[in-house]
Amino acid sequence: MTKSEQLFERAVKVLPGGVNSPVRAFRAVGGNPRFVVKGKGSHIWDEDGVEYIDYVGSWGPMVLGHSHPDILKAVYDRMVNGLSFGAPTALEVKMAEKMVEMVPNIEMVRMVNSGTEAVMSAVRLARGATGRDKIIKFEGCYHGHSDAMLVGAGSGALTQGEPDSKGVTKGAAQDTLMAQYNDLASVERLLDANPGQVAAVIVEPVAANMGVVPPKDGFLQGLRELCDKHGSLLIFDEVITGFRLAAGGAQEYFGVRADLVTFGKIIGGGMPVGAYAGTRALMEQVAPCGPVYQAGTLSGNPVAMAAGLAQLQILTAHPEVYHKMETSAQYIADHLRESAKKHGVKMQVNQIGSLLCPYFTETPVDCFAAAKTSDTKKYAKYFNEMLLRGVYLAPSQFEAMFVSSAHTQDDLAATVKAAEESIAAL
Ligand SMILES: *Cc1c(COP(=O)(O)O)cnc(C)c1O
Repeated sequence: MTKSEQLFERAVKVLPGGVNSPVRAFRAVGGNPRFVVKGKGSHIWDEDGVEYIDYVGSWGPMVLGHSHPDILKAVYDRMVNGLSFGAPTALEVKMAEKMVEMVPNIEMVRMVNSGTEAVMSAVRLARGATGRDKIIKFEGCYHGHSDAMLVGAGSGALTQGEPDSKGVTKGAAQDTLMAQYNDLASVERLLDANPGQVAAVIVEPVAANMGVVPPKDGFLQGLRELCDKHGSLLIFDEVITGFRLAAGGAQEYFGVRADLVTFGKIIGGGMPVGAYAGTRALMEQVAPCGPVYQAGTLSGNPVAMAAGLAQLQILTAHPEVYHKMETSAQYIADHLRESAKKHGVKMQVNQIGSLLCPYFTETPVDCFAAAKTSDTKKYAKYFNEMLLRGVYLAPSQFEAMFVSSAHTQDDLAATVKAAEESIAAL
């Protein structure tokens, strides 16, 4: 038995499914999860000393690769003075200032501890500020695991084959209306059918929890216009796209303004951090300024702020990383398409910025229904072939491949070589 196998055997006895988040289990692809001991740049090592080129990147946070020396130093320097105080620290102010500088259309932020918490709080704020109850979300978009958002949620829930969760009450789910991604008419119908009742439309500006589905031209702008027409707020859930598509996230990349923006993943530099942000008028509705209550014992934790702020500072100091990551992702996407064609495998590769996803289908993937046409058994085989060749992909079809600025030409060449062999083996 490998060390990973031994650990997993112990893990399943004390952790449900042997993991602390369902997407880490290899249930959709078969086999034993690898227990990771370390990461450096674009590579990770498992307990058995096997090295992989990593395209999970902690599911997005490690946009600069693992163990970036500046981020580690920021954490060391901060932690020797204490881990948490429950009183304000300068780092929280610097972090908020940095975010306001980087992200368009936001004037104030509130730090929380996860993407889930960011979305849950932003939705509460949208409801509090508009005095309306209903929310429109899109099928296959994931917004964390708060009750109201576990309706038609992608990725983890999707891989389990049950988009909804037991334990979510009808009451919590009934105010969540479901539209189709890239289909403005489906949003308009819901807004018309619920006049004056929709607090917000929440969207992943690039849907990255059903694989990777970029917005069609005009889709996000269309949402903006529909929200304005109906007095609803537009929430961009930028937990993945924030600081990844561009320094200013999807608002900058697509030139569309959101009223509220949620962050997670990259903003913590690998530590557990989330945030929501918006205009002063909206954010001052939040306690202690306003009537929308939201709090957190460890929110704005100084060590977490140190890591996140260091990462954001590097991203601002090195704007060239965005072009580099996009070029790397394009390179992989182009080679995947070529290999699929050469070996007669039906494949669609979606790519935008540093995010990409191969789907094993002939159907162009522009929505959830199309994503579901992918042959997930083929993906499972492909995943395992890649793993054998030292490339660590997400253990599910419905997740993105995350390219970081640390991926080198050698990594990319090794990846596309492994991919061609893996595709040939299908
Ligand atoms: C990961 C994710 C979340 C949830 O963030 P957690 O930190 O896992 O709670 C919310 N929204 C999107 C778009 C995500 O990808």
